[in-house]
Amino acid sequence: MEILFYCQSCNEKITTDQLSLLNEGKCPKCHSIEGFSTAPKGENDSFETLRVINDVELLEKSFE
Ligand SMILES: [Zn+2]
Repeated sequence: MEILFYCQSCNEKITTDQLSLLNEGKCPKCHSIEGFSTAPKGENDSFETLRVINDVELLEKSFE
């Protein structure tokens, strides 16, 4: 099953592949750098599993 990430600004859904191709972690739709999470914006019930992907993590990944 594919993991989807949600833009924390506009709730745009993207795949892991798309996430890895993002320019400086910016949303392809709204160009926000709010970051992406595995839970849609506003879905606080799953807060424990919430994981916001930020620029630092993306940079670390690309240098592995
Ligand atoms: Zn967005």
